[in-house]
Formats: sequence, C-alpha cells, structure tokens
Amino acid sequence: MNKVAVLGAGQMGNGIAHVLAASGLEVVLYDISAEQLDKAVATIGKNLTRQADKGVIPATAVAEIVARITAVTDMDSLADCDLAIEAVSENEALKLEIFSRMDEILPAAAILASNTSSIPITRIASATRRPQQVIGMHFMNPVPVMKLVEVIRGHATSDDTFAAIAALVGRLGKEMAVAQDYPGFIVNRVLIPMINEAVFAVYEGVASVEDIDKGMKLGTNQPMGPLTLADFIGLDTVLAIAEVLYNGFKDPKYRPCPLLVKMVNAGYYGRKSGRGFYTY
Ligand code: NAD
Repeated sequence: MNKVAVLGAGQMGNGIAHVLAASGLEVVLYDISAEQLDKAVATIGKNLTRQADKGVIPATAVAEIVARITAVTDMDSLADCDLAIEAVSENEALKLEIFSRMDEILPAAAILASNTSSIPITRIASATRRPQQVIGMHFMNPVPVMKLVEVIRGHATSDDTFAAIAALVGRLGKEMAVAQDYPGFIVNRVLIPMINEAVFAVYEGVASVEDIDKGMKLGTNQPMGPLTLADFIGLDTVLAIAEVLYNGFKDPKYRPCPLLVKMVNAGYYGRKSGRGFYTY
C-alpha cells in the first residue's frame, strides 16, 4: 500500500490524513470545499508541530509529513490510490453517491473504507460493484491522539480486505476492535445507552447532574462523567446515535430520554453551543 485517498477534510478527515502521512504513506485529501482543505492542511501542520514540541516526532519530520499530503477538489485525482477512507458528512445519500463514484474512479483492486459512525457498511457496500472490498474504519476523535480504530466487517467483506486493513491499523500504531455490521458497532452501542441512562437519572430526579457525573467518574474510574462527556460529544450527536440504535433494533430499551430530546429542541447542544448539562 503506497497511496491513500481521504475523502472529506473535516474534523475526522484531517486527523486521518495526519496519521496516514505520519506513517509514511502518500495521501490525497479530497473535499468539495477548497476552504475546508486549506483549513485541514493548516490544522495538520499545527498538530504536527505540537507533537514535535512534545518530542513525539522529530521537528524535521513536520515538513516531510505535510509534503506527503496533496489536497484536491477533483475526484479524478484519486484514480491511482490503493485505498480510500471516506470521512464526508454523515449523510447516507451523500455516502452512497461518493462510494458509487469511487467505484468508477479507483483501481479495481482498491479497498474502499468508510469512517461512518452509524450508516450500515453493508448498505454503503451495495452502492459499489466490489462489496467484498468495502469495510468500516471507525476512527475516534481526535484521531492523532486516540488509540482505537473500530474495524467493521460488512456482510460481504472478504478476509483479504480485512487482513489488509488490520495491517494498516498496526502500521498507524493503533489498536483495533473488530465488530460485525450492526447498529452502533461496539463503542456507540455501549456508550450511548450509558449516557442516555444518565440523562434518565436526571429526568427522574435520582440525583443532581454533578452527583451523577461524580458517581460514575470516581465510582467506575472513568476520566469524566457521562453528562460531561455528552456535552463534549454534543447532545445533538448523542441523540442522533440514540435514534440510530432505537430505529435499528426497534427495541424500546434504546428509546432516547425525553429530557435529551427536549434539550436538543431547545438548542442546548453542550460545549459547542455554550450550554448543555453545564454552562460554558
Ligand atoms: P465534518 O463536518 O467536520 O467534515 C465533513 C467534511 O465533508 C467537510 O469538510 C465537508 O466539506 C465535506 N463534504 C461534504 N460534502 C462533500 C462532498 N459531496 N464531497 C466531498 N466532501 C464533502 O464532519 P466529521 O466530524 O469530520 O465527520 C465525518 C465522518 O466521520 C462522518 O461520517 C461522521 O459520522 C464520522 N465520525 C465522526 C466523529 C466525530 O467525533 N466527529 C467520530 C467518528 C466518526
């Protein structure tokens, strides 16, 4: 594997391009927005400089790594990539269109991966003529810092595709957790119901926001309580994932807490809107 396409230069795309280039791979970073691409390349430079300041990478490596990334707004420039990792906005129609176009443009042997948090890999794969070469690579935010990549096998994902992606995860210095293609995969399947249950505890007056967070932080040795974490993730995002679980399994145990729904309706999204369970 030499050259990797990253589609979408947002929060996740710039982090994925960063770690790929740092591992020595050539990266073609694609977005429809030239402005997003400029921002992404600047962010990667800034984050690499921070890593150099901390001694994680040598200072001389910063320019070399950035030079391995080519920013493009034209999808035809991805024609000689061995792998594509898609990280465009979480919109199913958009992802299906991107995968269908990648299938036409990239070499027949190329693997097509998606960083989707919630759209079934099997459905994404069905937009291509190579479903055996489609797989989920779910990176965690911020990508350069977080160790885990969830690797999701679609219904048709081949063992060869899986082995190639497992090797890449190792090359990036990350660990993988392998999931079958069911709603929420592993991390969101377990995390979001825990956060939702914490919101139910507020809703039912079990305890204060502060005590719920304190109880979980100190009682289960987590770096932060579930409501603090919800504010970090964004309550709108938490609700969207809760709805994916609820709709995907049609099981009432996943129903989003009415208080979560009400807070999102009120525009209380957490840190990004200045108000959530806490005020920022
Ligand atoms: P983002 O909004 O920061 O970035 C999305 C990018 O996609 C933008 O740069 C946008 O210009 C680009 N885009 C939109 N339409 C496009 C098109 N037609 N062609 C090319 N580019 C297009 O979003 P993000 O947070 O980076 O999320 C990207 C993906 O990663 C989503 O599927 C999301 O579910 C997933 N994800 C996000 C997180 C997270 O914490 N943010 C974590 C894991 C996975």
